[in-house]
Amino acid sequence: MSALVPVAEHLERVLRATPLLDAERIPLDEARGRRLAEDVTASVLVPPWDNSAMDGYALRHADLAGGGPVTLTVVADVPAGSTADPRIGPGEAVRIMTGATLPGDADTVVRLEDTDRTDPLAPLPPTVTVLVTPRPGMHVRQAGEDRKAGDLVAARGSLLTPTVLSGIASGGHRSVLVVRPPRVAVITTGSELVPPGTALRRGHIPDSNGVLVAGLVEDAGGRVVAHRHVDDDPAGLARALAEVGGCDAVVVTGGVSAGAFDPVRRVFAGSDDVAFTSVAMQPGKPQAFGRLPGGALLFGLPGNPVSAWVSFHVFVRPALLAMQGAPARVVRPMPWPLPAAAGWGTPAGRAQYIPVTLSAGPDGWTVRPVSSGGSASHLVASLAGADGYAVVPAGHGHVQPGETVPVHVTNHD
Ligand code: AMP
Ligand code: MG
Repeated sequence: MSALVPVAEHLERVLRATPLLDAERIPLDEARGRRLAEDVTASVLVPPWDNSAMDGYALRHADLAGGGPVTLTVVADVPAGSTADPRIGPGEAVRIMTGATLPGDADTVVRLEDTDRTDPLAPLPPTVTVLVTPRPGMHVRQAGEDRKAGDLVAARGSLLTPTVLSGIASGGHRSVLVVRPPRVAVITTGSELVPPGTALRRGHIPDSNGVLVAGLVEDAGGRVVAHRHVDDDPAGLARALAEVGGCDAVVVTGGVSAGAFDPVRRVFAGSDDVAFTSVAMQPGKPQAFGRLPGGALLFGLPGNPVSAWVSFHVFVRPALLAMQGAPARVVRPMPWPLPAAAGWGTPAGRAQYIPVTLSAGPDGWTVRPVSSGGSASHLVASLAGADGYAVVPAGHGHVQPGETVPVHVTNHD
């Protein structure tokens, strides 16, 4: 029997074989969920103009220098979006609304509340009396205060979330250079599997890994370009692989063990391109990984639903993220140390990846296994309650109640 390979070592093997995909320029409003292929810097000042932070009166601070109250002549109105730059002479002011560009002659804004003209809906008054003595520059937002032209707005590899997209939009861009999403094929294997919802004949079970893996691919920024099921028939699997081998990755579930009918094993027996590895984790021990003739990375995950889910998170998701240029902290995310609400047993000699639920108690967050059956990898319906998985290192022994364990949160709902 071959020695168990540590999880980190198998992951490095996967990442070494993972290419960065090429880039394409797309409109900002189609870019959510993609990753930047280049640093994006501001092409304009943010904000672009000195502007008012308040509804009030823009004036020359020198007019107030002697102390108040001071009455000024109101010479114009400047609403937001106005392109006007009215002249303001000594002893004059303009009424200005929040976000409106500050006239070049003004240097300070006084709020409506700090004048005798507090009603914003009133017609433009002939004069205004200023009741306070503000500091120079009060209530003025400076052009470029947030970013100067050329300052970084979002780094290469950033996920384009709504907030990142809004930063890029305010930096003056209408399109972004992003990495093309990985094209992924999903193949489930197993003669016992039937489409979900089909009446079950003796020995049949619903194919639940299909929707599971397809969803995980999309969550990782990939596109599912083919979704197949094959029986435990090596020739059928070989045909399916030949059809999809030109995409970026193929994720196969089931059939990687040494069982009599395991089709992935049988298709790649003796292959130099696909290796079968026993990884020191539970569940998830049997893993196939390699490259298909068309160039696609091949992931052969064990078929037990919990094993497939864990293996996807530990090996496939990092690869899909690396293909998109995600930064290291995303490819190898940091777990959160959280206390265990209850103790549980662990396997000998292998790291345990156990689905857990989070709960908020009076003393903060705790985790507990989703199933009293531990990480029993066939408990597919219990997996629906998982908020993430805890990782207990090999050789750790029993987890004690109250002990802190590293947790990867996968459910953000
Ligand atoms: P295998 O890795 O093919 O030996 O499968 C291990 C276990 O996972 C068996 O009990 C299978 O019935 C089950 N299994 C395999 N593939 C799926 C799937 N797509 N959906 C649900 N269960 C599966
Ligand atoms: Mg099988």
